[in-house]
Amino acid sequence: MKITALGTGDAFSADRYSSCLLVEEGDTRLLIDCPHPIRKILKESTKGRVDVGDIDALILTHLHADHASGVEGFAWFCRFALHKKARICAHPGVLEHLWGQVQGSMSELLHVDDDNKPHHRSRLEADDVFDTVPLTSSMKIGVFDVESRLTIHHIPTTALFFRGQRDTFGYSADTAFDPELIAWLARGDVVAHETNFGAHTPYAKLRDLPAELRKKMRLIHWPDGFDIDHDGAIAVLHDGDTIELQAT
Ligand SMILES: [Zn+2]
Repeated sequence: MKITALGTGDAFSADRYSSCLLVEEGDTRLLIDCPHPIRKILKESTKGRVDVGDIDALILTHLHADHASGVEGFAWFCRFALHKKARICAHPGVLEHLWGQVQGSMSELLHVDDDNKPHHRSRLEADDVFDTVPLTSSMKIGVFDVESRLTIHHIPTTALFFRGQRDTFGYSADTAFDPELIAWLARGDVVAHETNFGAHTPYAKLRDLPAELRKKMRLIHWPDGFDIDHDGAIAVLHDGDTIELQAT
C-alpha cells in the first residue's frame, strides 16, 4: 500500500493545499477528498505520476469546502475529458447533499452551434454526472476492504480504514477528540490523524497517547506554523509526503 499526502492544510491554509490523500495498491487508486484545484494538487504532490483519469473512485469524507470544493472540477473533467461519470463513494448522509452543493453551477449546459452561437440549453441531474456509491460500514472498493465510521464533526463526516493485501491504514478525517475513534484507527499499520483548533482535535490530546500509537501516527489538517518548533512527539505530514508499506 502506498499513501500520498496530496494536501495537508486546513480550510485557511496559505502555505499548503487542503487535506486530501491518495491511497494506492496494485491497480487501485483511491482519492480521499477533493479540494480545488485537484488536478494541480495531484500533479504536484505525485510529481506528475497520477491524474484524475488514474483515479478509480473518489471517497468523500464530508462536504466542507476544504475537502470537497474540487468535486465540480473533478466531475466536469470526468465528463468532458474522460467521457465518464465521476465515481464518488460517501456516507449516505454526505451523498444526500452532494448534488445540492453543486446544483447551481452544474445543472445547466449551454450548447453552441458551429459558429459558436448559442444553440440550446440542456438540463443535467446528479445521475448524469455522478456515479455515486453509498459507503457502508465495510465494503470492497478495488483491492481494498474499506471500513467507515462517523466522526464528531459539524456535518456528517466519515473516518476511513483501508485494508490492503497485507497492510492497513486509518484516516481520522475531521473530528473532535474521540477516544473510541482513535481505538478504531489504532488497528492500522499507519494512522493519519487531524489536529487543529476549535471543534477539531487538540494536539495536546494526541500527544498524550501511548508512544507505540504515536509512533505510527502522522498529523494532517494542521494549521499553518504548527510545524515550527513542533515537539516531534508525532510526525507531521507535508504536501507530497509518501508512506510506502511493504506490500506495494
Ligand atoms: Zn470539516
